[in-house]
Amino acid sequence: MATLFSEIEYLKGVGKARGEKYRKLGINSPYELIYHIPRAYLDFRAHVPVQQAVLNEYNVLKLTVSRKMPPQRIRGGLVICKAAATDGIDDILIVVYNNVYGFQALKEGGTYYMYGKVTGNFLRREISSPVYIGAEERVLIQPIYRLTQGLSVNMIRTNMRQALNMMKAEPFETLPQDIMQRYDLPPLMWALENIHFPADEMSSEAARRRLSFDELLKLQLGMSLMRTRTRAHTAMKMDSGVDIGDFTGSLPFELTGDQSRAVSEILADLCRDVPMNRLLQGDVGSGKTAVAAAACYFAAKNGAQSALMAPTEILATQHYRTLTSFLEPLGIRVTLLTGSLTAKKKAELRGRIAGGEVDVVVGTHAIIQKDVEYRSLALVITDEQHRFGVAQRAALAEKGGSPHRLVMSATPIPRTLALIIYGDLDISAITELPNGRKPIKTYAVTGKLRTRAFNHVRMRLDEGRQAYVVCPMIEDSDSDLFAVKTYAENAAKGDLRGYRTALLHGRMRAAEKDRVMQQFRSGEIQVLICTTVVEVGVDVPNAAVMVIENAERFGLSQLHQLRGRVGRGEYDSTCILITDNTSEECVKRMKIMSSTADGFKISEEDLKMRGPGDFFGNAQHGLPPLKIADIACSMELMNKAQTCAKELLESDPALERPEHRALKMDVLRLFSREIIG
Ligand code: ADP
Ligand code: MG
Repeated sequence: MATLFSEIEYLKGVGKARGEKYRKLGINSPYELIYHIPRAYLDFRAHVPVQQAVLNEYNVLKLTVSRKMPPQRIRGGLVICKAAATDGIDDILIVVYNNVYGFQALKEGGTYYMYGKVTGNFLRREISSPVYIGAEERVLIQPIYRLTQGLSVNMIRTNMRQALNMMKAEPFETLPQDIMQRYDLPPLMWALENIHFPADEMSSEAARRRLSFDELLKLQLGMSLMRTRTRAHTAMKMDSGVDIGDFTGSLPFELTGDQSRAVSEILADLCRDVPMNRLLQGDVGSGKTAVAAAACYFAAKNGAQSALMAPTEILATQHYRTLTSFLEPLGIRVTLLTGSLTAKKKAELRGRIAGGEVDVVVGTHAIIQKDVEYRSLALVITDEQHRFGVAQRAALAEKGGSPHRLVMSATPIPRTLALIIYGDLDISAITELPNGRKPIKTYAVTGKLRTRAFNHVRMRLDEGRQAYVVCPMIEDSDSDLFAVKTYAENAAKGDLRGYRTALLHGRMRAAEKDRVMQQFRSGEIQVLICTTVVEVGVDVPNAAVMVIENAERFGLSQLHQLRGRVGRGEYDSTCILITDNTSEECVKRMKIMSSTADGFKISEEDLKMRGPGDFFGNAQHGLPPLKIADIACSMELMNKAQTCAKELLESDPALERPEHRALKMDVLRLFSREIIG
C-alpha cells in the first residue's frame, strides 16, 4: 500500500507520466507534495459582475456556461476552445488555449467561479484560460502553485487533497505539545491542511507561521547536530610551546589587535584534540590572510600540513602568492594545486603532497578531492565560505581523519543570522581595519553624470592608479542593463580611448582569466571592465577607482563586497555608483552606501530592508533550501525558533528522546542523511 513516503507515482491518479512532471518540480513522494507550498492564493469570494470587470486585468467572475463550441485547430497544432457564458445579465466569451482536457471538464449549464484576464471592450468581452472551481465548492480560497508544463493547478489540487487525506489517516506531529503551547503554534496536520486550503486569511497565516517556525527550528537543530558530530572526533593536538615570533617578526606590518586576538584563539584551538571549528569573520581588507598564514606557519612548525581552499582559481592563485611571500622566506613549502594544471603536473604535486614534501597546499575544491592524499593534514582553511555549502563543509570535516577547520568569511552577518548560518562554528571577528587605511569616497549619481565620472577615472589613471568598471551582464539582452562585452568595446572607442582596458567575466576560461588578472596586477592593464567575478577577495592595492553601472541591480552587501576591491592600498579611493533608478528603496541603498563603510552596519541595514526571508531565498548562503521560511519569515519568528532550538538541545543534546524522534527525522530529511549521519 502506498504511504506518504512512497514514490509519487503511487499516489492515486498520478501514475508514470504525471509522476515525471512532479519529479521535475523536485517532488518525489506524497510527503514532498504536501510541502509544495502555494505561492499565492486565489480568492474566489471576491467575484464581480461582468459589467464591473476591469479590462486587461485579472478578475474573478461567477459564470454559467451557456454554449460550448467545437475546438478549433489552428497553425502549429494550437487548439482553441471557446464557450459562451453569462453572469445572468451580461454575456462573455470564455477562451481556452491548448487545454482541451480542462475545457472538457466545463459543463454546459454549469456555474463556476472563474479567474482570468478579461479583455475586449464594453460590448464584447472575453476571459482567457480561466482557472475555475464549481460554484458549489465550499472552499473559496484556492491555492496557486509553481507549475510545470503539463501539470495544471487543478491536477495539483486534486492530488494534494489525496496526499493530505493519506497523512490525515495517520497524522504525526513533530513538535512536543508543550512547545506548541508555549510558542502558540497550531498542530502540524492542521497547518498543512490550512496552508493549502485555508478557510480564511487568518488560517493561512497561522499555518504559514507554524511551518516557517518548523523550518527555522530544523535548520538550527541540524547545524547544531553537525557541530556535535565533529566534536566527537579527535584532531591532532599541537604543541603550545611552538613559537611563531619568527613569522610575526618577518611580516611587512604589525598585526592589529584584532588580528593578534584571532591568531591566539586559533592557536589555542589547534592545541586541543577536539577539532577546531572556527569562523574567522572580518570585513574586506581586514587582513584575514595574514591570520591564516600564522595558523599555517604554526601547523608547519608542528610538522603538520595545511590546506587552504578558495572558491575560484583567481583567489587561490592570489592566496598562493601571498602565502608564498609570507612563508617561503621562513622555509615553509607552499604549493598551488588547481584544476587547470596539466595531468602530469598534478600527479607530480600529488606525489609531493603525499610524501610530505609540501607544508601548505593552496587551491580550489580540487584539493579535497579523493585523489589527493596528504601525509599529515591537520588544518583545513576555506576562504569566503559563503560560496561553499554546508555539505561541502561537512565533506571537508571528513577529509584526512578530522582536521582542524578554519572558515574565513568577508561577509559581515548580523549576529542573529550568523547563529543560524554558522551554527556549527565558533566565531573570531576582526572589526578594525589595519592602520593608515584611507576611507573610500562613495558617490551615487545618475547616468547624466557618466561623462564627469569618467573624467575622474581618467584623471586617476593619469596619476598612475588603476580602475574597475563593473556591469551586471556579460552579453547584451532584452533588458537595458549594461553588458561588459559591449561596454568594453564602446569604452575603448570612447571614454577610455587610449587607455589599456581588458574584459573579465565568469564565462571566460580559467587560464584566460588568470592571464588578465596577472596583467591587471602587474599594471599592464589599467582598467578592468568586469562582472561581479571580482567581487570576492581580489587584491590589487594600486586599483583606487571603481565605477559600478546599474548599481540598482546589486544588493547592499554585494555593493559593499564590490567596493572592497578598492581602498586596499595607500591611495585615496573612489567608488562611483551609477543608477537611473529612483525608487525609494534604491535611493535608500545608495544613501547607505555613500554614508558608511562599516560592513556590519551595512549588513544590518540590508537585513532590515529586505527581511530575513530574502536572505534565505538567496542560494548563496549554502544552507539546505527552505520552502516556506524563504518567503514568509520575520525576525521575530527567527528569534523564537532560535530560543526554542536552544531549549530543546539543552534538555536533549542529540534529540534522542522518544518525543523528539519525529522532529529529528524531519531535521535529517531537511539536511539529507549524509551530512548529519
Ligand atoms: P581580507 O581580510 O579582505 O582577506 P587581506 O588579507 O587580503 O584582507 O588584506 C588586505 C591587505 O591588507 C593586504 O594587502 C595585506 O597585506 C594588508 N594587511 C593585512 N594586515 C595588515 C596590517 N596589520 N597592517 C597593514 N596592512 C595589513
Ligand atoms: Mg581575503
